[in-house]
Amino acid sequence: MLSKEQLERYSRQVVLPGIGESGQRRLLEAKVLIVGLGGLGSPVALYLAAAGVGQLVLADFDRVNIPDLQRQIIHRMETVGELKVQSALLALKSLNPAVEVTLLSGQNLEELECALKQVDVIVDCTDNFGARFSLNRMSVYHKKPLVSGAAIRMDGQVTVFDPRDPKSPCYQCLYPEVFAVQDTCQMSGILGSVAGIVGSIQATETLKLLLGIGQTLKGKLLLLNALTMVFREVSVIKDPLCPLCSCQEGFYNP
Ligand SMILES: [Zn+2]
Repeated sequence: MLSKEQLERYSRQVVLPGIGESGQRRLLEAKVLIVGLGGLGSPVALYLAAAGVGQLVLADFDRVNIPDLQRQIIHRMETVGELKVQSALLALKSLNPAVEVTLLSGQNLEELECALKQVDVIVDCTDNFGARFSLNRMSVYHKKPLVSGAAIRMDGQVTVFDPRDPKSPCYQCLYPEVFAVQDTCQMSGILGSVAGIVGSIQATETLKLLLGIGQTLKGKLLLLNALTMVFREVSVIKDPLCPLCSCQEGFYNP
């Protein structure tokens, strides 16, 4: 049973078909890992905490800098210089004190993997291929759904990898490791609200996965161009030669 306070706080989503009190209880019992508390991780963490996801594990090694405030909406002037996970914790606790928040440094892969084993969904809000490939390997190995998002310049993309389904592709099916060329927001720029759109879609996909409602972006890559505001969807198929998800033994090496 939801308490009177919970019913009031979550009333606008409890009335939705497919959620109700049982869906809200699912969210309250859910645990999500958010890796990266930047432009994507900010809206993801805020929306998941606001929706009442019971436990959030936050991982990031970085500190808040002034140029981050243009798009990383969870951070404030007051927390410039602080660790991003600490800054995010303050914001999340003031938004919804009931959410349990665990902080990870994001640099210790063993610690990250240990946390990852305990969660229901992983949200990849990182900004570099190294971290993305590592998270993907762990997601495949531990069969945890991975909500992947990226944003740069005026463009964004979102997809869901769900290794619980043997037909689902993984990040490495989409981006073979050898072809990955790094492009950063520092080099190329980004409009903050574009990161906000992508993060909001990631939060929505995460909530759908937790609730078991609708159809996720599994096997589909959503591409958006904010200049034309055209959204396109392309199929992502499992690569039969993917060294990670198509090989029985796997080459597990996070
Ligand atoms: Zn694969």
